[in-house]
Amino acid sequence: MTTTVITNIGNLVTNDPDRGTGPLGQIQDAAVVVDDATGTVAWVGPAAEAPAADAAHDAEGRAAIPGFVDSHSHLVFAGDRTQEFNARMEGRSYEAGGIRTTVRATRAATDEELEANLVRHLDEALRQGTTTFETKSGYGLTTEDEARALRIASAHTDEVTYLGAHIVSPDYAEDPAAYVDLVTGEMLDACAPYARWVDVFCENGAFDGDQARAILTAGQAKGLMARVHANQLTYGPGVQLAVELDAASADHCTHLTDEDVAALASGNTVATLLPGAEFSTRAQWPDARRLLDAGVTVALSTDCNPGSSYTSSMPFCLALAVRDMRMTPDEALWSATAGGAQALRRTDVGRLAPGARADLALLDAPSHVHLAYRPGVPLVSRVWRRGRAVRGRRLG
Ligand SMILES: [Zn+2]
Repeated sequence: MTTTVITNIGNLVTNDPDRGTGPLGQIQDAAVVVDDATGTVAWVGPAAEAPAADAAHDAEGRAAIPGFVDSHSHLVFAGDRTQEFNARMEGRSYEAGGIRTTVRATRAATDEELEANLVRHLDEALRQGTTTFETKSGYGLTTEDEARALRIASAHTDEVTYLGAHIVSPDYAEDPAAYVDLVTGEMLDACAPYARWVDVFCENGAFDGDQARAILTAGQAKGLMARVHANQLTYGPGVQLAVELDAASADHCTHLTDEDVAALASGNTVATLLPGAEFSTRAQWPDARRLLDAGVTVALSTDCNPGSSYTSSMPFCLALAVRDMRMTPDEALWSATAGGAQALRRTDVGRLAPGARADLALLDAPSHVHLAYRPGVPLVSRVWRRGRAVRGRRLG
């Protein structure tokens, strides 16, 4: 076995409490040994005790964290919605098509255009430390266009989500029930081979609780696992439905009753908070503190999409969570790494311990706290994915 040691790490977050101090399992003056053949972690511990390796990288005292796990994005799209954002920030009402604008542009794009746009955003995320990402369909809304989006996404990630139920297709505006039949029938059949997850936007103006249940259970019957866009704009049945159906994640969770919080605390469903959406729409922040204090598992993610949250930056979302959602820097870092892994039901990412994927980011900072303390500063200096140095300012 050939190995590489990343040594002289000033502060390492392992997310393994047995390996270091506190819930993040932090180790000072640490080293990580990578098995080059498998791209996994072979050893983690104090640098002074590191076993001999075939190659070495000197971190020069920088902090290291597990690569971010971005468990919610919408990256197969074309066009942008600058005018809509501009109008919103000027306080003007803007009669634009919202998601429908992106649907039109996406349908009109070639496969090559969609893939190039996806890759551009993935590169952007990778440079900012994201080493695992989920992405969804939802801007095609025809059988052919949804399957195409998932096929393109599946060439770049294993975490692919079928979101034919993003909104009712404009082609079915007069007959939403027929659209639900399509989403649970022919479209699902065409999409399931490319997807791991099924998702639905359960919200006034999108899909109600009964429709969401039909869509999620149809997906589950095809072997897909559930995740739900829930309780973003209003109170509603999404969160409790997610818990009842054992969805991996209820995403947004901005408007929650006490019963919703209790349901999340009692089940296996992670609450994924997406502060980029509230930032970009000047909306009320989700109450992360309330969820954490109730014992709910919280993940943080970007929701990167051209309408309501056009950021690919996990560090930015982490800073918002600390400043405006009252998470501690430690909690936010955990939620953006291990929490995201749990929201994807993964145990091989979001932590740095023997056997885990060697996905890590070096920070030009003495600790991860600087991600929130120095918002907007590009602190990620180098990124390894599957043990290979892939991106970073230092690699160009
Ligand atoms: Zn979303």
